[in-house]
Amino acid sequence: MNFEEQAGKTILSRAGIRVPQGRRCATPEDAAEAARTIGAVVVKAQVPTGKRGKSGGVRLAATPEEAAEAARAIIGMEIGGHPVREVLVEERADIGREFYAAVLNDPASRSPLVLFSTEGGMDIEEVAATRPDALRRATVDIRKGFSAAAARRLVDGLDLGGAEDAVAAMLEQLYRVYRLHDAELVEINPLALLRDGSVIALDCKLSVDDSSLYRQSDIAGLGAPEKATDLERRGQDLHLKYIELEGNVGVLANGAGLTMTTMDVISHFGGRPANFLEIGGEAYTKGTEALDLVLSNPGVRSLVVNFCGAFARTDVMAGGVIKAWKELNPTLPVFFSIHGTGEDEAVRMVRSELGIEPYDLMEDAVKAAVEAAR
Ligand code: GDP
Ligand code: MN
Repeated sequence: MNFEEQAGKTILSRAGIRVPQGRRCATPEDAAEAARTIGAVVVKAQVPTGKRGKSGGVRLAATPEEAAEAARAIIGMEIGGHPVREVLVEERADIGREFYAAVLNDPASRSPLVLFSTEGGMDIEEVAATRPDALRRATVDIRKGFSAAAARRLVDGLDLGGAEDAVAAMLEQLYRVYRLHDAELVEINPLALLRDGSVIALDCKLSVDDSSLYRQSDIAGLGAPEKATDLERRGQDLHLKYIELEGNVGVLANGAGLTMTTMDVISHFGGRPANFLEIGGEAYTKGTEALDLVLSNPGVRSLVVNFCGAFARTDVMAGGVIKAWKELNPTLPVFFSIHGTGEDEAVRMVRSELGIEPYDLMEDAVKAAVEAAR
């Protein structure tokens, strides 16, 4: 689950990290009112994407009138495909320098990774690509944690204008937030060094592992709800993991791994999958709902049914699809590949009840589906 800037800052603030005071406003009048109590402010678009600064979504305002004007200019903009409905109006920071700090799950080292750079404010991917030396990294042994000494080592030798200790302390706190909230990523860009020598988090990106939301109930309510399509919401209601994609080859396979393999093979033959749908476990009993979901995507031109049985029986799965097929009676071409436990019976059922011959090879079934969708 992702947290937008202000929600992220609320969480940082609760953990003792300094952030600017501010509030969300939906109208220019609100923004003026906020600026009247705060003073000089910065007005920032609240959208779940970065690069607001570059798109004109961050403006400084010295007076309530300027704040209203900034809000008027920003609300209604579109940034990275997201319409701006609200702005964050917060106390303006007197920035000396801008740093970058983050803690994230690192798949390569399979451990938390703490990042720090003196080149904050800009695209960190760009810094990593053009000036890798400007990006300091520390992988953390999660059993031992990130010590004060390790934090100090990470910034050793960098000229931080006397803020070395303050920055190291901030990195330690950031790691604590990452652990406390089961984060996948917590990023502060910029981490600002103010002219008075103090450091403050001016922007925040926070992403928390969905699997841990059950024990993150104190913050879950602050997160941005996943933006789902109508069909994806229907999938959620049915407790089916369904993701709508842009292609035209529908996919019905058992298990997430086989489904992704099927999608890869579709791409391999030049096609584009129309969906991800995991049916496994109790979802076999939801054959009709699952098939209906896949076929409700108006882009679907052909369908691959790919079953691979081990403990799960392909004849039971095929039975579910056949029943669903007879109920829904779709007209689009379908291509079966069935292997593993119950295969002979499943193939016989598809042949006799649907009059369709399953393919011996998965590749051939997928290839035929890709061609049929053209
Ligand atoms: P992003 O572009 O979406 O990442 O938005 P940020 O919140 O990071 O803001 C972009 C840039 O706006 C920062 O890097 C700063 O240079 C500038 N900025 C943001 N807040 C302030 C502020 O309070 N005072 C000043 N002077 N500049 C700010
Ligand atoms: Mn930023």
